[in-house]
Amino acid sequence: MELDIVSAETLLEPPYDGNVANLLERSIAEQPDAVAIEHAGETITYREFGDRVARFANGLRELGLEAGDRVGVYMPNGIPFCTVIWACCRAGVIASPLNPEYRRREIEYQLDDVDAEAVIVAGDANDYVVEAVAGLEAKIVSATPGGDHASLPDLASDANAAVADREDDDVLLQPYTSGTTGKPKGVLLTHRNFRVQIAQSVSSYSAGPIEGDGIIVLPMYHITGMIQMMASLCAGRTLHLLRPDQWDPERVLAKLDEHDIPAFTGVAAMFVDLLEAYEPDEHDLSTLIKAGQGGDKLPKPTQERFEEAFGVPLSEGYGLTETTATSHTIRWSSLGNRPGSVGQPVGHTRSKVVDEDGNEVGPGEEGEILIAGPQVMKGYYENPEANEAVFTEDGYFRTGDIGTRDADNYYYIKGREKEMILTAGYNVYPREIEDLLYEHPDIHEAAVFGLPDDRRGETVAAAITPKAGADLTEDDVEAYVLDELAPYKHPRVVEIRPELPKTGSGKIRKTTLKDEFLEERGIE
Ligand code: AMP
Repeated sequence: MELDIVSAETLLEPPYDGNVANLLERSIAEQPDAVAIEHAGETITYREFGDRVARFANGLRELGLEAGDRVGVYMPNGIPFCTVIWACCRAGVIASPLNPEYRRREIEYQLDDVDAEAVIVAGDANDYVVEAVAGLEAKIVSATPGGDHASLPDLASDANAAVADREDDDVLLQPYTSGTTGKPKGVLLTHRNFRVQIAQSVSSYSAGPIEGDGIIVLPMYHITGMIQMMASLCAGRTLHLLRPDQWDPERVLAKLDEHDIPAFTGVAAMFVDLLEAYEPDEHDLSTLIKAGQGGDKLPKPTQERFEEAFGVPLSEGYGLTETTATSHTIRWSSLGNRPGSVGQPVGHTRSKVVDEDGNEVGPGEEGEILIAGPQVMKGYYENPEANEAVFTEDGYFRTGDIGTRDADNYYYIKGREKEMILTAGYNVYPREIEDLLYEHPDIHEAAVFGLPDDRRGETVAAAITPKAGADLTEDDVEAYVLDELAPYKHPRVVEIRPELPKTGSGKIRKTTLKDEFLEERGIE
């Protein structure tokens, strides 16, 4: 499918300013009969998708929602998720996507913080959502007709609601992340942020030739999957969707074999599984040109083995929710040139490495990575303190990641200043699990941190001291967390100890604990 590819430069200017929904309108007008999305055997054309988006946008208005209002979106990857996100965009309603694996307390926290008027679910709401909204103002709305709740398709009266006027600086999406420290914060991403990032991700600079279909296996509630979905539809491509909670490398290989899909993006653990499942005699992957990885460190052996077996470059990218996904990537023309690097800043983006005093350091010297560019968030929602902490006086965003750059401006990520754990591509914030552990009647002290893990990148570990006289086992602790939080957050390594190492000021020494855990387990 040929589409006049809009360059990154063009997308920054009128007539593409204002509501990003206009970019989708353009794909619909140019190729109404092309398949927009395929999921689990179901397909939808651009015309049908456009109609459904307009109907859902109408449904949002019938609910009394106006441009600038906020809703939570708690749905798995699928055509309804894409429809709801674009309907919100069209109506100017700010969507705050929630991980569909979240349980009551996680849902309640986010909906409350967002000041959500409603939470949109697929089908009937599960018990976690019903319990979460019990103490909140938010109503439950379904993306499916019938059922127990108000439903967007049932509410829609016609499909002609116009695209809401939005300014470049108006917020489109409010995803949640902890950033450098503390509790999850709402990240205000504007229409301009998105348009720039969409342009950056479809530009020949980063993506290379973009003919052919797209594929998403990452969760779309997270910024990387979200941008992939939006960019694919704005470029008029056919998008094949898979659900990360139904991850199966065989299915991905079958899709890559069946369709003309030039690029595949995943997290490190996925490439390990793909390597195991790949049978060169069975799978014809001749249309695959490159694979991309981001969101997590890419171990060199995985990269080398994958490139050898699949015969295509596997390049690493870097970015954060706060940078609307990608800030650094390997230029298409220099793929394979710098193993171990996450690449150079993408178009219109500046980056530097600074020491503890904020002074820029030279090539090869380690420091914090700073980013400035039109894809950097507007700020955290209602959080002046956090905003003050992350923006520098000269307009850069502080990532909290430690790295270096070389003389050619290729960046290398060395680690994180922040405590965040990255496990199988998911971010886990120790503080959240610790808060929960401290609520347990038998737990006196708790420290949560990450340990290196060959498969998951990192695995969640917890060191606990029980209250005097308590009869607490490691299994009890695991089961307790599993009951309350999404499964990927539960500590797979738990140790109950009589005491935890402390600093002079009484703070738990996590680095010492981590070293002890590593030594006991013989991990290098
Ligand atoms: P998120 O906001 O969920 O996208 O998480 C952003 C964080 O993921 C960054 O601040 C980094 O700590 C980490 N990250 C992203 N890409 C990479 C990478 N290529 N290598 C190492 N860490 C990464």
